[in-house]
Amino acid sequence: MTTYAPPRDPLSKARRAWTQARRIAPARLSFSEPVLSLCFDDFPASAATIGAPLLERYGARGSFFASSSFAEGESGSGRCFGLPDLERLRNTGHEIGCHTFTHSDCARQDLFATLQDIARNRDALVAMGCEPPVSLAYPYGETSIPLKRALPKRLACARGITAGLNRGLTDLAHLRAYPLFGRGGIAGAMRALRQAARTKAWMIAFTHDVSTTPSPWGTHPDELEALIVMARQLGVTILPVRDALARGRA
Ligand SMILES: [Zn+2]
Repeated sequence: MTTYAPPRDPLSKARRAWTQARRIAPARLSFSEPVLSLCFDDFPASAATIGAPLLERYGARGSFFASSSFAEGESGSGRCFGLPDLERLRNTGHEIGCHTFTHSDCARQDLFATLQDIARNRDALVAMGCEPPVSLAYPYGETSIPLKRALPKRLACARGITAGLNRGLTDLAHLRAYPLFGRGGIAGAMRALRQAARTKAWMIAFTHDVSTTPSPWGTHPDELEALIVMARQLGVTILPVRDALARGRA
């Protein structure tokens, strides 16, 4: 996460709501059991060094949405991932997803520039030894209807940051997700998890850093662990986004 914030003026809000509501890649998803996907965006090194091992302790794997321009650098959520983090995540079965190369606001960036940004991130991740990503997370959750329409076919799905469960008729160009940070973030995610368990839905949750002193966009490891424990108690399977989607479409 960077300190940039998408515009909140009435026109931008209306455009955002319309973009979220328009179903561009409709698919009917159904699950024989509830599923939770845990996402780490950008991503800070702590997601790989603290978050990933925590998931692994419970036999779970996550989705790490990398913006390759952040590699070996710093963000508002602390030191960012490096090559050893990618390698370790790959070798332990986590998903490396696409978060665009530059982490620009895709609702405001020219469409062609965004498509190049996605391709550049894929190339950079492949050069770092990753498989070409099949899942996308829009930076800041921002997108546009032309972008949702123009997403490369190799991307099976794209995720936003609008709260909601994924089940039944779903827009694969705009999956819903809950934050694991901010005021009421964890409590809201726990409520959603109970609802997902009741309705056999797919819940996606996202954060950035995982730290005992989290950034405003990060999660304390105890809170992440509490959510994982609750998922187990409720019979919710934890899967990376790509695997959860494959299960829902089967
Ligand atoms: Zn991001």
